[in-house]
Amino acid sequence: MGKDKGHIPIRTCVSCRAKRNKKELIRLVLDAQGVVIRDDSGKGEGRGAYVCMSKSCWDSLRKGSLLNRAFKKEGPMVVHAGCHFCEKLTLGE
Ligand SMILES: [Zn+2]
Repeated sequence: MGKDKGHIPIRTCVSCRAKRNKKELIRLVLDAQGVVIRDDSGKGEGRGAYVCMSKSCWDSLRKGSLLNRAFKKEGPMVVHAGCHFCEKLTLGE
């Protein structure tokens, strides 16, 4: 892995499609109950979705079916992804 030193992983925000340094994005994963949670370790299992730390991106998530698409899941998506502006943010209710 030594030759990866200095490499910056780039991920795409599922909301605005901006490509950013992975560290500037919030990684979301589905837990066993199908709840979307924040994965700060970046090592959570399964499919992840990345979102900017920007309120507008979270607002878009709330309105659209972006998370349904990102996680290939139908129906309301419940999100428990605490951050300074989206604590206890719940989608689809
Ligand atoms: Zn974004």
